[in-house]
Amino acid sequence: MTGMIEIVDVHKQFGDNKVLNGVKVRIEEGEVFTIIGPSGQGKSTLLRLINLLDTPTSGRILIDGTDIHTDGARQMEVRRRMGMVFQKPVVFNTTVHENIATGLKFRGVEHGRIEETIAEALRVIDLAGFGNRKAKTLSGGEMQRVALARAMVTEPDILILDEPTANLDPLATEKIEELVRHYNKDLGTTVVMSTHDMLQGQRLADRIAVMMQGTFIQAGTPREVFSTPNNKKVARFIGVENILEGTITSTEGGVATIDVKGIPVQAVTTLAAGEKVCGCIRPEDVTLHLSHAKRISALNVLEGRIVRMVGIGPLNEITVDCGIDLKVFITWKSTEELGLKLGDTVRLSFKASAVHVMKDTAE
Ligand code: ADP
Ligand code: MG
Repeated sequence: MTGMIEIVDVHKQFGDNKVLNGVKVRIEEGEVFTIIGPSGQGKSTLLRLINLLDTPTSGRILIDGTDIHTDGARQMEVRRRMGMVFQKPVVFNTTVHENIATGLKFRGVEHGRIEETIAEALRVIDLAGFGNRKAKTLSGGEMQRVALARAMVTEPDILILDEPTANLDPLATEKIEELVRHYNKDLGTTVVMSTHDMLQGQRLADRIAVMMQGTFIQAGTPREVFSTPNNKKVARFIGVENILEGTITSTEGGVATIDVKGIPVQAVTTLAAGEKVCGCIRPEDVTLHLSHAKRISALNVLEGRIVRMVGIGPLNEITVDCGIDLKVFITWKSTEELGLKLGDTVRLSFKASAVHVMKDTAE
């Protein structure tokens, strides 16, 4: 067994509630596969099915070729090759040492080996010397590290994490992410994880899948999903700042003119005239110019008034009402140098190739 998971047309229904509606994906051995999506879309349900905590209504989940829900003889073996960590850290009301020892004892590992393994695990999770502490007295982040160590000392091929950092502060989150990376890279563990934290998805995942209404509406590398969302719902969920909705009025040489509330926007696309589309434009691809600027080479130049300025870390997010609201990022330094303030008239430019165009499917 090595940790490859195939999910074949999985459906799960609770009463009338169709929670999973044909989930299909193949998760490769040694991969970090992250599921993102708004809450209530079926992420935990799918993870619980993979971890044999529940059974699908229809469809199959194969681990290294074994249908885990029907092959009763091998179920126990499969179960032992998986570890799971939940959103709320689960620790037993005993010492840290006993918590981590649980799975090892269950598996009949001999005493000396257990002690060695636990000492090493405590070192890895940076809790050496905490073995005799009551686990319930630890901070949330520490408890989650204990839960992770408890899952990992049995050397599972597959580690399943359901929003493992949802209740943790940024520093504790970083430690958990470091550990997950370590287990994946150094031990080759396949990691299947859900998160509502898109940046975490980007930081950790080899591939990201977006779950909405019980199916993966998009899966790909973080770069693919974040730069080329395949529909408006994904674009909104991943927080694309500029989403323009319109209709292609004409095309010429691969560049379409999209009518967005009466404003023509030029965009590179193979879609044809008459299509209803959405265009995503990243704020970092939009350039801001003072209103008297000349010689702007980009195909799209729009004029408007600054209606909002918000600090986001080292950047200023400026919203300009050009008939359509467009957001642009610029540094605080540039904001000051240009003397920008609310109400100023400015020009924005962006290339036709900076617009990611997708069909606007009704939802
Ligand atoms: P997510 O993890 O994406 O937030 P969940 O998988 O937890 O979503 O839940 C999806 C839907 O399934 C919700 O509507 C939830 O109420 C329902 N659900 C989950 N588990 C059960 C259950 N054991 N019985 C009935 N409904 C459930
Ligand atoms: Mg959940």
